[in-house]
Order: sequence, then structure tokens, then C-alpha cells
Amino acid sequence: MYVSDCVSVNERGHLTIGNYDTCELAKKFGTPLYAFDENEIRKNLREFKKSIDDEYAGNGLVVYASKAFCCKEMVRICNEEGTGIDVVSGGELYTAMSVDFPAENIVFHGNNKTYDELVMAVDYGVGRIIVDNLTELETLDKIAKEKGKTMGVMLRIKPGIDAHTHSFIKTGQIDSKFGFALETGEAMEGIKAALAMENINLRGLHCHIGSQIFDLDPFELAATVMLDLFKQVKDETGTELGELNLGGGFGIKYLKSDRPRPYSDYMRKVSAAVNSYSAELGLKTPFILIEPGRSVVGAAGLTLYTVGCVKDIPDVRTYVSVDGGMCDNPRYALYQSSYEVICANKASEKRDWTVTVAGKCCESGDLIQEWTRIQPVEPGDILAVLSTGAYNYSMASNYNRIPRLPVVFVKNGTAREVIKRETYAQLCECDV
Ligand SMILES: *Cc1c(COP(=O)(O)O)cnc(C)c1O
Repeated sequence: MYVSDCVSVNERGHLTIGNYDTCELAKKFGTPLYAFDENEIRKNLREFKKSIDDEYAGNGLVVYASKAFCCKEMVRICNEEGTGIDVVSGGELYTAMSVDFPAENIVFHGNNKTYDELVMAVDYGVGRIIVDNLTELETLDKIAKEKGKTMGVMLRIKPGIDAHTHSFIKTGQIDSKFGFALETGEAMEGIKAALAMENINLRGLHCHIGSQIFDLDPFELAATVMLDLFKQVKDETGTELGELNLGGGFGIKYLKSDRPRPYSDYMRKVSAAVNSYSAELGLKTPFILIEPGRSVVGAAGLTLYTVGCVKDIPDVRTYVSVDGGMCDNPRYALYQSSYEVICANKASEKRDWTVTVAGKCCESGDLIQEWTRIQPVEPGDILAVLSTGAYNYSMASNYNRIPRLPVVFVKNGTAREVIKRETYAQLCECDV
């Protein structure tokens, strides 16, 4: 009925997440509030893990891209489900370290890691550092040498593939700040440099072609482009690289018109290409890593707001203002992202009212959704914005000094806070 599988309507006509009444969540924890179905997150992690185990005979690792939603409990869940995590900053790495996440299963990304972040990664023994450029490679080698360590490295390659997604979230082309370019010879130069370094263990190569992708072909094409490079490396250096990281980017359902494929379809198609093309090139099938972020948590979460004022401007539009906004969900302001909005306490009524849902920030562009259809609402009603599990909490800000929202995980009839609501005192904690 709705875009998210873990959302339904109960006998009181209230919206539920993981069978928990969202109006009760709003009452118990207050609004605005993020709520997740923990079983849905675990199910998604298991599906990815099962399909990589099936398709590559256990020779692969699912690495959750924690930038989509990161907190200690999320990282613990990944460890419990047997997946790795991908971190992109000292802060995300610190979160993983604070719950003793196994270092070998951490992948560290970023196009401009600081010296201190690299030291932190070397000290913790991060299994794979995804090196973005030659400067970083040299710095990492130097740090590793000083500390008497050898660091596992993958180089981020730009395979030059256009994955037909929103231009703001496209990262695979040559005009990108991420990675080594193939066409210019930069990639081969980086590989040869890495192979020659004493304190660097070049485990393999990485690519990530974009985000919110529905089409399977660009993933398959990226894999073959990367394998061509593996072959070229073998021919030119005699070294056969062992690992191929294919990144993330699997699309989820934000609107009814979105049609994501089951992740097992992706895995089957790409693995068939990887297995047969490796054989054709005379290579062993490499160990495969994938880095799903949005597809693990996106549809498992929603945001609850309380309606404040309703402003009808005749012949123009109706603004329904809520107690959050771009501070907890900047994605409409950034990318005009689509979302489904439902009145949680009137979920069984017809959605026949066209409104603009606005936030409470001092910014005209602070909108959650424009021209969206919801049930007729009045002040005090609860609005649910679906599929906000990815890139909402993690992209939130304290704009207007609005405290960050709490996060609640619902599982088997219970709800618990995994992130508490920020207090005004905490907002001022770093102020002198
Ligand atoms: C953002 C990102 C991901 C995750 O992307 P999703 O679209 O959330 O699956 C994975 N790998 C890299 C390198 C990324 O930058």
C-alpha cells in the first residue's frame, strides 16, 4: 500500500512502523522524531550478505556505507549481522572504534582524508583504506613506515560511467573529485606506485558509480571496465590483484513510481558478468566487496512531525508547517527529492488534499515536499514522511540552533531510543 514495506495501518486507522503505532511513538518520544524498523534493517543486511555468499561462493564482503545513517547501535547491528562498514571520516571511524568494530572489516573512504584521520586508521589497523590520490598514497606509506605497519589499500578508480541519476549525486565520471582517472593513465600510475611501496599492500581496486540507481547495466559495465584494468595490471606488472570493490548506489522506493529491483537480481547479473569475464581474461574471480548504504536503511526509517499552522493562500497554495524541516531533512532543499507524506493519525482516510509541507527554519527553501497529496490535516495532527532512513539524520544540521532529533528503533513490539534528543545545553557545550 505504501512505498515502504515496514509501514502499515492499524485498526485505529493509525500508521504503523514495524507494527508499532506511530502516534504512540510520537506521544512517547515527542516530535520531531526519526523511527526505524530494526527488523527491516537486519533483513536488508542479511539479503545482501546471503546473495554475495551465494553468488561468489562466500568470497565477498558486504560493507555497509555508514554515511547513510551512522550511530553506535547501527554499527553494532552490522557487526552482529556479519557485515563490514564503510566510514568516510574520523567521526565515523571513531563511532566504529567505540563499539570495538573489527578493524579488518572497516573500509575507509574519502577524497581528502586528513593526516590525523590517516594516523587514526593506521593505529586502529583498518583493513582497507580506499586511497583516492597519489598524495594520500605517499602520506599513508610514510605514516605506516613510521609505525612499522603495512596497510591494506584499494585504489578508487573513476570508471567513467554515467549511471543516469540525478546530476548532483553522480560520482562515476571523469569530471569528479573522487578517485584516479582511467583514461589519462593516472590509475595505472597510482597502481604501479602502490605496488612499489614497502608499507602498502595493494589489495585491489574500487569504483562507485553513483547513487539511487535502478538500472542494472551500469553496474555490470563498471565491473567489466574494472576487470579490463585488472588484466592490464597483470600484463604490465605481473601482479594479479585480489579484490574488486563495486561500491553502492542501489535505488530504493521513494514514490510508488520507483521500481527498484530485488538486490539478488543485481547480485546475480553482476556476478555472472564478473565470473565469466574474469575467466575470459584468464583471471581468477576476485574477492568482491559491495557498499550498500541507502538500500539498507532508507526505506526502514520515517520521520514524524506535529503539524503547527496551516496557511491557505487562495489560488496559490496551502502551506502545512511542521516542527522540523531542512535541519532534519535537507534533501528536498538540496536535490528536490521526492517523499511520500501521510497523516499518521488519519492514515485510513483519503489523501485528497494537495499541499506544500514546510519546515520551521528561517529559509523560504525550507520545504519537505511541494504539491504532495495528504489527508486534510489540522494543527496537532502527526505527519509521517516515509523512507527517510538514509541521508536524513546523517545530513542533519543545527541550523537555527534547532537540536538534533532522537532516533527510535522499533522491534517486535518494543521501541527504544538509540540516539537521544539533543538538549539546548548540549547545543551550547562547545561555546566558550
Ligand atoms: C555513498 C557511497 C556509498 C553508498 O551509496 P548508497 O547510494 O547509499 O548505496 C558506497 N560507496 C561509496 C564510495 C560512496 O561514496
